[in-house]
Amino acid sequence: MTASSSTKRIAIIGGGFSGVMTAVNVARMSKHPRHIILINAKRPLGRGVAYGTRRPEHLLNVAARNMSAFPDLPDHFVQWLRTRSEFDTVPDLELRERFMPRMVFGDYLKSMMHHHLQGMGDEVTVTAEFVEGVAVDVEVNGSSGVVLLEDGTRIDADRVVLASGNEPPAALPGAELLQDHGGWAGNPWLPWHENLPGDDGTIVILGTGLTTVDSIISLRAMGWLGRIHAVSRHGWLPEAHFRGIDYHDFPSPDVDLTTLGLEKLRALMEEHCGKLRELGANPAIVVDKMRPFTQQVWKNFSVEERLAFAKKDAARWNIMRHRIAPEIHAQVTSSQLTGQLQVHSAYIERVEADGEKVKVCLEGGESLTGDLVINATGPQTRFSSSKSLLLSKLMEKGLISPDDMDMGIRITDDHTAVTKDGTESEVLLALGPLLRGTLWETIAVPELRGQASQVAATLVGGSAAPAEDLSALVEFII
Ligand SMILES: Cc1cc2nc3c(=O)[nH]c(=O)nc-3n(C[C@H](O)[C@H](O)[C@H](O)COP(=O)(O)OP(=O)(O)OC[C@H]3O[C@@H](n4cnc5c(N)ncnc54)[C@H](O)[C@@H]3O)c2cc1C
Repeated sequence: MTASSSTKRIAIIGGGFSGVMTAVNVARMSKHPRHIILINAKRPLGRGVAYGTRRPEHLLNVAARNMSAFPDLPDHFVQWLRTRSEFDTVPDLELRERFMPRMVFGDYLKSMMHHHLQGMGDEVTVTAEFVEGVAVDVEVNGSSGVVLLEDGTRIDADRVVLASGNEPPAALPGAELLQDHGGWAGNPWLPWHENLPGDDGTIVILGTGLTTVDSIISLRAMGWLGRIHAVSRHGWLPEAHFRGIDYHDFPSPDVDLTTLGLEKLRALMEEHCGKLRELGANPAIVVDKMRPFTQQVWKNFSVEERLAFAKKDAARWNIMRHRIAPEIHAQVTSSQLTGQLQVHSAYIERVEADGEKVKVCLEGGESLTGDLVINATGPQTRFSSSKSLLLSKLMEKGLISPDDMDMGIRITDDHTAVTKDGTESEVLLALGPLLRGTLWETIAVPELRGQASQVAATLVGGSAAPAEDLSALVEFII
Protein backbone atom coordinates (compact mmCIF):
# COMPACT_ATOMS: atom_id res chain seq x y z
CA MET A 1 0.00 0.00 0.00
CA THR A 2 1.40 3.45 -0.82
CA ALA A 3 0.77 6.56 1.26
CA SER A 4 -1.74 9.04 -0.22
CA SER A 5 -1.44 12.82 0.27
CA SER A 6 -4.06 12.77 3.06
CA THR A 7 -2.09 10.18 5.04
CA LYS A 8 -0.54 11.54 8.24
CA ARG A 9 3.23 11.20 8.16
CA ILE A 10 5.13 10.33 11.34
CA ALA A 11 8.92 10.56 11.37
CA ILE A 12 10.66 8.68 14.18
CA ILE A 13 14.31 9.54 14.81
CA GLY A 14 16.05 6.55 16.37
CA GLY A 15 15.62 2.87 15.48
CA GLY A 16 16.37 1.26 18.84
CA PHE A 17 13.74 -0.24 21.16
CA SER A 18 11.98 3.09 21.76
CA GLY A 19 11.66 4.12 18.12
CA VAL A 20 10.77 0.67 16.77
CA MET A 21 8.17 -0.05 19.45
CA THR A 22 6.58 3.37 18.95
CA ALA A 23 6.21 2.53 15.26
CA VAL A 24 4.88 -0.97 16.02
CA ASN A 25 2.30 0.41 18.46
CA VAL A 26 1.17 3.05 15.94
CA ALA A 27 0.65 0.20 13.47
CA ARG A 28 -1.33 -1.76 16.08
CA MET A 29 -3.49 1.16 17.23
CA SER A 30 -4.10 3.29 14.19
CA LYS A 31 -7.56 3.22 12.61
CA HIS A 32 -6.61 5.76 9.95
CA PRO A 33 -3.92 5.78 7.26
CA ARG A 34 -0.48 6.73 8.53
CA HIS A 35 2.94 6.59 6.98
CA ILE A 36 5.88 6.03 9.31
CA ILE A 37 9.43 7.01 8.40
CA LEU A 38 11.89 5.37 10.78
CA ILE A 39 15.23 7.18 10.61
CA ASN A 40 18.22 5.47 12.14
CA ALA A 41 22.00 5.76 12.06
CA LYS A 42 25.10 4.00 13.31
CA ARG A 43 23.42 1.10 15.16
CA PRO A 44 21.59 -1.83 13.56
CA LEU A 45 17.99 -0.78 12.89
CA GLY A 46 15.64 -2.44 15.33
CA ARG A 47 18.38 -3.35 17.78
CA GLY A 48 19.92 -0.08 18.95
CA VAL A 49 22.92 0.09 21.27
CA ALA A 50 21.90 -2.57 23.77
CA TYR A 51 20.58 -5.30 21.46
CA GLY A 52 22.90 -4.63 18.52
CA THR A 53 25.73 -6.56 20.18
CA ARG A 54 26.94 -9.60 18.23
CA ARG A 55 28.55 -11.10 21.30
CA PRO A 56 26.52 -14.03 22.69
CA GLU A 57 28.06 -13.64 26.15
CA HIS A 58 26.26 -10.28 26.58
CA LEU A 59 23.11 -11.23 28.46
CA LEU A 60 20.00 -9.24 29.29
CA ASN A 61 20.00 -8.01 32.84
CA VAL A 62 16.26 -8.58 33.16
CA ALA A 63 14.70 -12.08 33.24
CA ALA A 64 12.77 -13.15 30.12
CA ARG A 65 9.40 -12.99 31.87
CA ASN A 66 9.75 -9.22 32.26
CA MET A 67 11.08 -8.40 28.78
CA SER A 68 7.85 -8.32 26.78
CA ALA A 69 7.88 -5.41 24.33
CA PHE A 70 4.17 -4.79 24.99
CA PRO A 71 2.69 -3.53 28.28
CA ASP A 72 -0.62 -5.30 27.57
CA LEU A 73 0.94 -8.68 26.62
CA PRO A 74 3.23 -9.54 29.56
CA ASP A 75 4.16 -13.03 28.27
CA HIS A 76 4.86 -11.95 24.72
CA PHE A 77 8.67 -12.34 24.80
CA VAL A 78 8.49 -15.77 26.48
CA GLN A 79 5.93 -16.90 23.91
CA TRP A 80 8.14 -15.61 21.10
CA LEU A 81 11.11 -17.56 22.55
CA ARG A 82 8.96 -20.65 22.05
CA THR A 83 9.26 -20.11 18.28
CA ARG A 84 12.98 -20.94 18.52
CA SER A 85 14.06 -24.55 18.43
CA GLU A 86 16.87 -24.13 20.96
CA PHE A 87 14.30 -23.53 23.72
CA ASP A 88 11.96 -26.38 22.73
CA THR A 89 12.90 -28.57 25.65
CA VAL A 90 13.26 -25.84 28.29
CA PRO A 91 10.38 -26.01 30.79
CA ASP A 92 8.24 -22.86 30.96
CA LEU A 93 9.17 -22.00 34.53
CA GLU A 94 12.87 -22.13 33.67
CA LEU A 95 12.52 -20.23 30.40
CA ARG A 96 10.76 -17.36 32.15
CA GLU A 97 13.61 -16.94 34.61
CA ARG A 98 16.43 -17.08 32.05
CA PHE A 99 18.61 -14.10 31.15
CA MET A 100 18.71 -14.34 27.37
CA PRO A 101 21.57 -13.15 25.15
CA ARG A 102 20.86 -9.52 24.23
CA MET A 103 21.25 -10.36 20.54
CA VAL A 104 18.27 -12.75 20.86
CA PHE A 105 16.21 -9.83 22.18
CA GLY A 106 17.40 -7.88 19.13
CA ASP A 107 16.03 -10.71 16.94
CA TYR A 108 12.73 -10.39 18.80
CA LEU A 109 12.54 -6.65 18.04
CA LYS A 110 13.43 -7.28 14.41
CA SER A 111 10.65 -9.84 14.14
CA MET A 112 8.17 -7.31 15.65
CA MET A 113 9.28 -4.84 13.00
CA HIS A 114 8.93 -7.37 10.26
CA HIS A 115 5.49 -8.46 11.38
CA HIS A 116 3.89 -5.10 12.10
CA LEU A 117 5.71 -2.70 9.77
CA GLN A 118 6.60 -4.74 6.73
CA GLY A 119 3.17 -5.88 5.72
CA MET A 120 3.07 -9.23 7.50
CA GLY A 121 0.45 -8.31 10.14
CA ASP A 122 -3.23 -7.38 9.96
CA GLU A 123 -2.44 -3.67 9.93
CA VAL A 124 -3.72 -2.33 6.64
CA THR A 125 -3.80 1.36 7.48
CA VAL A 126 -0.11 1.89 8.23
CA THR A 127 2.82 1.89 5.82
CA ALA A 128 6.45 2.25 6.84
CA GLU A 129 9.77 3.13 5.28
CA PHE A 130 13.23 2.84 6.79
CA VAL A 131 15.84 5.51 6.22
CA GLU A 132 19.51 5.05 7.06
CA GLY A 133 20.93 8.47 7.95
CA VAL A 134 21.73 10.96 10.70
CA ALA A 135 19.00 13.49 11.47
CA VAL A 136 20.66 16.84 12.20
CA ASP A 137 17.70 19.24 12.43
CA VAL A 138 13.94 19.59 12.36
CA GLU A 139 12.27 22.63 10.83
CA VAL A 140 8.88 23.30 12.34
CA ASN A 141 6.40 25.21 10.24
CA GLY A 142 3.17 25.62 12.19
CA SER A 143 1.71 22.17 12.71
CA SER A 144 4.11 20.20 10.52
CA GLY A 145 7.84 19.73 10.18
CA VAL A 146 10.72 18.72 7.98
CA VAL A 147 13.50 16.43 9.25
CA LEU A 148 16.88 17.28 7.75
CA LEU A 149 19.46 14.56 7.34
CA GLU A 150 23.23 15.01 7.30
CA ASP A 151 23.34 14.19 3.56
CA GLY A 152 20.86 16.98 2.76
CA THR A 153 17.75 14.76 2.46
CA ARG A 154 14.54 16.48 3.65
CA ILE A 155 11.71 14.38 5.08
CA ASP A 156 8.27 15.96 5.52
CA ALA A 157 6.31 14.89 8.57
CA ASP A 158 3.23 15.93 10.53
CA ARG A 159 4.74 14.66 13.78
CA VAL A 160 8.36 13.92 14.69
CA VAL A 161 9.31 11.58 17.52
CA LEU A 162 12.70 11.92 19.19
CA ALA A 163 13.85 8.42 20.23
CA SER A 164 17.59 8.94 20.00
CA GLY A 165 18.50 6.93 23.11
CA ASN A 166 21.49 7.32 25.38
CA GLU A 167 24.21 9.85 24.72
CA PRO A 168 27.78 8.58 24.44
CA PRO A 169 29.86 8.93 27.64
CA ALA A 170 30.82 12.44 28.70
CA ALA A 171 34.34 13.40 27.65
CA LEU A 172 36.91 13.20 30.44
CA PRO A 173 39.51 15.94 30.91
CA GLY A 174 42.38 15.25 28.53
CA ALA A 175 40.36 12.89 26.30
CA GLU A 176 40.15 15.47 23.51
CA LEU A 177 43.87 14.87 22.85
CA LEU A 178 43.45 11.09 22.66
CA GLN A 179 40.93 10.86 19.80
CA ASP A 180 43.43 9.15 17.46
CA HIS A 181 45.39 7.29 20.13
CA GLY A 182 45.29 3.51 19.63
CA GLY A 183 45.16 2.93 23.40
CA TRP A 184 42.02 4.99 23.97
CA ALA A 185 38.43 3.72 23.54
CA GLY A 186 36.31 6.81 24.24
CA ASN A 187 33.01 5.09 23.44
CA PRO A 188 32.65 1.59 24.93
CA TRP A 189 29.82 0.75 22.51
CA LEU A 190 32.07 1.07 19.49
CA PRO A 191 34.37 -1.89 18.71
CA TRP A 192 37.52 -1.75 20.83
CA HIS A 193 38.20 -5.47 20.61
CA GLU A 194 40.55 -5.04 17.63
CA ASN A 195 43.02 -3.08 19.79
CA LEU A 196 43.56 -5.72 22.46
CA PRO A 197 47.07 -5.81 23.91
CA GLY A 198 48.83 -9.18 24.33
CA ASP A 199 48.26 -11.35 27.39
CA ASP A 200 51.07 -9.52 29.24
CA GLY A 201 49.21 -6.22 28.78
CA THR A 202 46.90 -4.14 30.96
CA ILE A 203 43.43 -2.80 30.29
CA VAL A 204 42.01 -0.02 32.45
CA ILE A 205 38.22 0.38 32.42
CA LEU A 206 36.87 3.69 33.65
CA GLY A 207 33.61 3.05 35.51
CA THR A 208 32.35 0.01 37.40
CA GLY A 209 28.79 -0.26 36.06
CA LEU A 210 26.97 -2.47 33.58
CA THR A 211 29.13 -1.51 30.59
CA THR A 212 32.27 -2.35 32.55
CA VAL A 213 30.77 -5.74 33.31
CA ASP A 214 30.08 -6.20 29.56
CA SER A 215 33.74 -5.47 28.83
CA ILE A 216 35.05 -7.87 31.49
CA ILE A 217 32.75 -10.64 30.25
CA SER A 218 33.89 -10.11 26.65
CA LEU A 219 37.57 -10.17 27.65
CA ARG A 220 36.97 -13.49 29.42
CA ALA A 221 35.02 -14.89 26.47
CA MET A 222 37.89 -13.94 24.14
CA GLY A 223 40.28 -15.80 26.41
CA TRP A 224 42.32 -12.67 27.09
CA LEU A 225 44.59 -13.30 30.07
CA GLY A 226 46.05 -9.87 30.84
CA ARG A 227 45.40 -7.61 33.82
CA ILE A 228 42.19 -5.57 34.17
CA HIS A 229 41.76 -2.53 36.40
CA ALA A 230 38.31 -1.01 36.86
CA VAL A 231 38.02 2.33 38.60
CA SER A 232 35.16 4.52 39.75
CA ARG A 233 34.59 7.00 42.56
CA HIS A 234 32.89 4.40 44.81
CA GLY A 235 34.32 1.21 43.26
CA TRP A 236 30.99 -0.64 43.47
CA LEU A 237 30.35 -3.39 40.92
CA PRO A 238 26.73 -4.32 40.10
CA GLU A 239 25.11 -6.92 42.32
CA ALA A 240 23.41 -10.12 41.15
CA HIS A 241 19.69 -10.76 40.95
CA PHE A 242 18.55 -12.91 43.84
CA ARG A 243 15.49 -14.79 44.96
CA GLY A 244 13.50 -12.47 47.20
CA ILE A 245 11.35 -13.24 50.22
CA ASP A 246 7.73 -12.37 50.85
CA TYR A 247 8.01 -9.00 52.56
CA HIS A 248 4.69 -7.24 52.92
CA ASP A 249 5.70 -4.55 55.44
CA PHE A 250 6.89 -2.19 52.70
CA PRO A 251 5.19 -0.18 51.41
CA SER A 252 2.59 0.11 54.13
CA PRO A 253 -0.93 0.82 52.76
CA ASP A 254 -1.17 3.75 55.24
CA VAL A 255 1.78 5.61 53.73
CA ASP A 256 1.65 7.48 50.42
CA LEU A 257 5.25 7.07 49.20
CA THR A 258 4.67 9.50 46.36
CA THR A 259 4.15 12.53 48.60
CA LEU A 260 6.51 11.68 51.45
CA GLY A 261 9.43 13.84 50.33
CA LEU A 262 13.08 12.83 50.15
CA GLU A 263 14.06 12.99 53.79
CA LYS A 264 11.17 10.91 55.14
CA LEU A 265 11.44 8.47 52.25
CA ARG A 266 15.15 7.97 52.90
CA ALA A 267 14.48 7.31 56.60
CA LEU A 268 11.67 4.86 55.77
CA MET A 269 13.78 2.98 53.27
CA GLU A 270 16.73 2.79 55.68
CA GLU A 271 14.39 1.41 58.34
CA HIS A 272 13.12 -1.35 56.04
CA CYS A 273 16.60 -2.13 54.67
CA GLY A 274 17.63 -2.64 58.31
CA LYS A 275 14.64 -4.94 58.95
CA LEU A 276 15.47 -7.01 55.88
CA ARG A 277 19.10 -7.33 56.95
CA GLU A 278 17.89 -8.57 60.34
CA LEU A 279 15.81 -11.18 58.51
CA GLY A 280 18.91 -12.23 56.59
CA ALA A 281 17.37 -10.95 53.35
CA ASN A 282 18.76 -8.62 50.70
CA PRO A 283 17.85 -4.95 51.39
CA ALA A 284 17.54 -4.37 47.62
CA ILE A 285 14.01 -5.79 48.00
CA VAL A 286 13.00 -2.31 49.20
CA VAL A 287 14.26 -0.74 45.98
CA ASP A 288 12.36 -3.35 43.93
CA LYS A 289 9.20 -2.61 45.87
CA MET A 290 9.63 1.10 45.16
CA ARG A 291 9.59 0.48 41.42
CA PRO A 292 5.84 0.96 40.78
CA PHE A 293 6.05 4.31 42.59
CA THR A 294 9.45 5.61 41.51
CA GLN A 295 8.36 7.81 38.62
CA GLN A 296 5.58 9.45 40.65
CA VAL A 297 7.88 9.93 43.65
CA TRP A 298 10.42 11.60 41.36
CA LYS A 299 7.78 13.82 39.77
CA ASN A 300 6.59 14.96 43.20
CA PHE A 301 10.10 15.75 44.49
CA SER A 302 11.10 19.41 44.42
CA VAL A 303 14.04 20.28 42.15
CA GLU A 304 16.21 20.58 45.30
CA GLU A 305 15.18 17.08 46.38
CA ARG A 306 15.95 15.65 42.95
CA LEU A 307 19.35 17.31 42.96
CA ALA A 308 20.08 16.04 46.47
CA PHE A 309 19.03 12.51 45.46
CA ALA A 310 21.19 12.61 42.32
CA LYS A 311 24.18 13.77 44.39
CA LYS A 312 23.87 11.67 47.52
CA ASP A 313 21.69 8.63 46.81
CA ALA A 314 21.84 7.84 43.09
CA ALA A 315 25.03 5.74 43.11
CA ARG A 316 23.72 3.45 45.85
CA TRP A 317 20.25 3.34 44.29
CA ASN A 318 21.69 2.29 40.94
CA ILE A 319 23.75 -0.50 42.47
CA MET A 320 20.68 -1.96 44.19
CA ARG A 321 18.36 -1.34 41.25
CA HIS A 322 20.37 -2.34 38.13
CA ARG A 323 21.42 -5.87 38.93
CA ILE A 324 22.92 -8.48 36.65
CA ALA A 325 22.32 -12.12 35.81
CA PRO A 326 23.76 -14.41 38.53
CA GLU A 327 25.93 -16.25 35.96
CA ILE A 328 27.46 -12.95 34.81
CA HIS A 329 28.07 -11.91 38.42
CA ALA A 330 29.79 -15.23 39.08
CA GLN A 331 32.20 -14.63 36.19
CA VAL A 332 33.10 -11.15 37.41
CA THR A 333 33.68 -12.50 40.92
CA SER A 334 35.87 -15.23 39.48
CA SER A 335 37.99 -12.61 37.67
CA GLN A 336 38.44 -10.82 40.99
CA LEU A 337 39.32 -14.03 42.86
CA THR A 338 41.95 -15.04 40.31
CA GLY A 339 43.49 -11.56 40.60
CA GLN A 340 42.89 -10.75 36.93
CA LEU A 341 40.49 -7.96 37.88
CA GLN A 342 41.31 -5.29 40.42
CA VAL A 343 38.69 -2.73 41.37
CA HIS A 344 39.74 0.71 42.60
CA SER A 345 37.76 3.40 44.34
CA ALA A 346 39.10 6.78 43.24
CA TYR A 347 38.08 9.99 41.50
CA ILE A 348 39.38 10.11 37.92
CA GLU A 349 41.04 13.48 37.31
CA ARG A 350 42.26 13.22 33.74
CA VAL A 351 43.59 10.93 31.03
CA GLU A 352 46.76 11.49 29.00
CA ALA A 353 48.98 9.77 26.45
CA ASP A 354 52.01 7.94 27.81
CA GLY A 355 53.75 6.89 24.60
CA GLU A 356 51.70 4.01 23.17
CA LYS A 357 49.90 3.64 26.50
CA VAL A 358 47.30 5.82 28.21
CA LYS A 359 47.72 7.09 31.76
CA VAL A 360 44.72 7.63 34.03
CA CYS A 361 45.48 10.22 36.71
CA LEU A 362 43.55 9.71 39.92
CA GLU A 363 42.86 12.07 42.79
CA GLY A 364 45.68 12.12 45.33
CA GLY A 365 48.49 11.68 42.81
CA GLU A 366 47.92 7.97 42.08
CA SER A 367 47.67 6.74 38.50
CA LEU A 368 46.92 3.63 36.43
CA THR A 369 48.45 3.03 33.03
CA GLY A 370 46.85 0.83 30.40
CA ASP A 371 47.78 -0.46 26.97
CA LEU A 372 44.09 0.09 26.37
CA VAL A 373 41.82 2.41 28.40
CA ILE A 374 38.05 2.11 27.92
CA ASN A 375 35.72 4.94 28.93
CA ALA A 376 32.71 3.17 30.45
CA THR A 377 31.70 6.00 32.78
CA GLY A 378 28.08 5.96 31.55
CA PRO A 379 26.14 8.22 29.22
CA GLN A 380 26.66 11.92 29.41
CA THR A 381 23.75 13.33 31.43
CA ARG A 382 24.03 17.13 31.14
CA PHE A 383 21.49 17.74 28.42
CA SER A 384 22.52 21.29 27.62
CA SER A 385 25.99 19.95 26.71
CA SER A 386 24.56 17.26 24.40
CA LYS A 387 26.96 16.08 21.72
CA SER A 388 24.03 15.35 19.41
CA LEU A 389 23.91 17.84 16.57
CA LEU A 390 20.17 17.29 16.33
CA LEU A 391 19.38 17.90 19.98
CA SER A 392 21.69 20.91 20.32
CA LYS A 393 20.16 22.44 17.19
CA LEU A 394 16.60 21.92 18.46
CA MET A 395 17.59 23.40 21.82
CA GLU A 396 19.29 26.37 20.17
CA LYS A 397 16.10 27.08 18.19
CA GLY A 398 13.98 26.73 21.35
CA LEU A 399 11.92 23.89 19.83
CA ILE A 400 12.80 21.71 22.84
CA SER A 401 14.03 22.67 26.29
CA PRO A 402 15.99 20.93 29.06
CA ASP A 403 14.04 19.68 32.09
CA ASP A 404 14.60 21.25 35.52
CA MET A 405 17.51 18.88 36.19
CA ASP A 406 19.17 19.49 32.80
CA MET A 407 19.22 15.71 32.36
CA GLY A 408 16.94 15.48 29.34
CA ILE A 409 14.01 16.93 27.41
CA ARG A 410 11.09 18.62 29.10
CA ILE A 411 7.81 16.90 28.13
CA THR A 412 4.14 16.85 29.12
CA ASP A 413 2.45 13.70 30.47
CA ASP A 414 1.54 12.58 26.93
CA HIS A 415 5.20 12.91 25.81
CA THR A 416 4.75 16.14 23.85
CA ALA A 417 7.96 18.20 23.90
CA VAL A 418 7.78 21.57 25.65
CA THR A 419 9.40 24.49 23.82
CA LYS A 420 11.77 27.06 25.35
CA ASP A 421 8.88 29.48 25.91
CA GLY A 422 6.88 26.83 27.75
CA THR A 423 4.32 25.99 25.05
CA GLU A 424 3.54 22.45 23.90
CA SER A 425 5.14 21.58 20.57
CA GLU A 426 2.64 20.82 17.82
CA VAL A 427 5.14 18.54 16.11
CA LEU A 428 7.75 17.05 18.47
CA LEU A 429 7.40 14.22 20.97
CA ALA A 430 10.08 12.35 22.90
CA LEU A 431 10.63 9.11 24.80
CA GLY A 432 13.36 6.89 26.20
CA PRO A 433 16.53 7.76 28.09
CA LEU A 434 16.02 11.42 27.02
CA LEU A 435 13.38 11.69 29.74
CA ARG A 436 15.69 10.86 32.65
CA GLY A 437 15.22 14.22 34.37
CA THR A 438 11.41 14.01 34.18
CA LEU A 439 10.93 10.34 35.09
CA TRP A 440 14.24 9.12 36.57
CA GLU A 441 13.42 5.48 35.69
CA THR A 442 13.37 5.58 31.90
CA ILE A 443 16.10 3.28 30.69
CA ALA A 444 14.96 -0.32 30.80
CA VAL A 445 12.36 -2.17 28.72
CA PRO A 446 9.81 -2.45 31.57
CA GLU A 447 9.53 1.37 31.50
CA LEU A 448 10.12 1.96 27.80
CA ARG A 449 7.37 -0.38 26.55
CA GLY A 450 4.76 1.72 28.42
CA GLN A 451 6.24 4.90 26.96
CA ALA A 452 6.19 3.54 23.40
CA SER A 453 2.52 2.65 23.85
CA GLN A 454 1.74 6.11 25.29
CA VAL A 455 3.55 7.96 22.50
CA ALA A 456 1.72 5.87 19.89
CA ALA A 457 -1.58 6.68 21.60
CA THR A 458 -0.75 10.39 21.50
CA LEU A 459 0.12 10.10 17.81
CA VAL A 460 -3.07 8.30 16.80
CA GLY A 461 -5.32 10.05 19.30
CA GLY A 462 -6.17 6.84 21.15
CA SER A 463 -5.46 5.53 24.60
CA ALA A 464 -2.33 3.67 25.65
CA ALA A 465 -2.42 -0.04 26.42
CA PRO A 466 -3.31 -0.44 30.09
CA ALA A 467 -0.21 -0.38 32.23
CA GLU A 468 0.53 -3.72 33.81
CA ASP A 469 0.20 -4.08 37.54
CA LEU A 470 3.81 -3.62 38.59
CA SER A 471 2.98 -4.16 42.24
CA ALA A 472 2.06 -7.75 41.34
CA LEU A 473 5.21 -8.12 39.29
CA VAL A 474 7.66 -7.12 42.01
CA GLU A 475 6.48 -9.98 44.21
CA PHE A 476 8.21 -12.30 41.77
CA ILE A 477 11.42 -10.39 41.30
CA ILE A 478 14.44 -12.57 41.85
C1 LIG B 1 24.89 -2.08 26.94
C2 LIG B 1 23.46 -1.95 27.38
C3 LIG B 1 22.76 -3.06 27.86
C4 LIG B 1 21.43 -2.94 28.26
N1 LIG B 1 20.76 -4.05 28.71
C5 LIG B 1 19.45 -3.95 29.03
C6 LIG B 1 18.70 -5.10 29.45
O1 LIG B 1 19.24 -6.19 29.55
N2 LIG B 1 17.39 -4.95 29.75
C7 LIG B 1 16.78 -3.74 29.67
O2 LIG B 1 15.59 -3.65 29.96
N3 LIG B 1 17.47 -2.64 29.30
C8 LIG B 1 18.77 -2.72 28.97
N4 LIG B 1 19.47 -1.61 28.59
C9 LIG B 1 18.77 -0.34 28.56
C10 LIG B 1 18.50 0.09 27.11
O3 LIG B 1 19.00 1.41 27.07
C11 LIG B 1 17.07 0.08 26.72
O4 LIG B 1 16.51 -1.19 26.95
C12 LIG B 1 16.81 0.40 25.25
O5 LIG B 1 17.63 -0.40 24.43
C13 LIG B 1 16.99 1.86 24.89
O6 LIG B 1 16.50 1.96 23.58
P1 LIG B 1 16.39 3.33 22.82
O7 LIG B 1 15.71 3.03 21.54
O8 LIG B 1 15.75 4.37 23.67
O9 LIG B 1 17.88 3.81 22.59
P2 LIG B 1 19.05 3.17 21.71
O10 LIG B 1 19.08 1.72 21.80
O11 LIG B 1 20.26 3.94 22.10
O12 LIG B 1 18.65 3.52 20.20
C14 LIG B 1 18.70 4.81 19.69
C15 LIG B 1 18.98 4.73 18.20
O13 LIG B 1 18.85 6.04 17.63
C16 LIG B 1 19.94 6.29 16.77
N5 LIG B 1 20.12 7.75 16.68
C17 LIG B 1 20.45 8.60 17.68
N6 LIG B 1 20.49 9.87 17.20
C18 LIG B 1 20.17 9.80 15.89
C19 LIG B 1 20.05 10.77 14.85
N7 LIG B 1 20.27 12.06 15.09
N8 LIG B 1 19.70 10.35 13.62
C20 LIG B 1 19.46 9.04 13.36
N9 LIG B 1 19.56 8.07 14.31
C21 LIG B 1 19.91 8.45 15.55
C22 LIG B 1 21.11 5.56 17.45
O14 LIG B 1 22.19 5.36 16.57
C23 LIG B 1 20.40 4.27 17.87
O15 LIG B 1 20.35 3.35 16.81
C24 LIG B 1 20.79 -1.69 28.20
C25 LIG B 1 21.51 -0.58 27.74
C26 LIG B 1 22.81 -0.70 27.31
C27 LIG B 1 23.54 0.50 26.79
